[in-house]
Amino acid sequence: MYLKSIELYGFKSFAHKMKFEFHNGITGIVGPNGSGKSNVADAVRWVLGEQSAKQLRGASMQDVIFAGTEARKPLSYAYVALTMDNSDHVLPVDYEEVTIARRVYRSGESEYLLNGTPCRLKDVSELFYDTGVGKEGYSIIGQGQIEKILSGKPEDRRELFDEAVGIVKYKKRKAASVKKLESERENLVRVNDILSEQE
Ligand code: ATP
Repeated sequence: MYLKSIELYGFKSFAHKMKFEFHNGITGIVGPNGSGKSNVADAVRWVLGEQSAKQLRGASMQDVIFAGTEARKPLSYAYVALTMDNSDHVLPVDYEEVTIARRVYRSGESEYLLNGTPCRLKDVSELFYDTGVGKEGYSIIGQGQIEKILSGKPEDRRELFDEAVGIVKYKKRKAASVKKLESERENLVRVNDILSEQE
């Protein structure tokens, strides 16, 4: 699996439609300070489901939408599509190519698309569990992140190893089942209360 292309429109400094194409190998993005290099990495993080504005170097989630310049009006939405080559089927779907897209409007309305079909954030997250690519994966290392990992709490550091050895999806499924079990237990208590009231 490798990143084949990124399409952006209205995301941060990318006011025009832009498509970056990558090949199997190493690609470097170079440019002067403030030209938008980090915005490309932010776009990848965002489309993979980043929910924290701070992680995207903004104050609110709407800050990812092109805010306008002297020469160009602000745009009403931001759109990013990431296409992965999946010919080795590392992503657990039948498609040879997988495109994940995210769009957000100034109104706050937003959507995720998986090969053009609307889906939930959960679907995007689950697709990338244990591949190292998800928003919590180790394939995007931001500025200062290495230091954070080294000086962080052992539990936080463990998350990185969990992802690397491929047990995140089991841990997430277990957490979801435990939560469901907990709510069923509460329902059972409520039913028992009602039954004993009627006796
Ligand atoms: P450096 O080399 O200094 O780290 P960089 O090339 O990584 O810089 P970025 O941080 O990616 O640059 O881009 C910063 C630019 O993006 C700034 O000019 C900023 O004004 C612009 N920018 C960020 N958010 C928006 C937005 N919502 N609308 C328009 N421009 C934006």
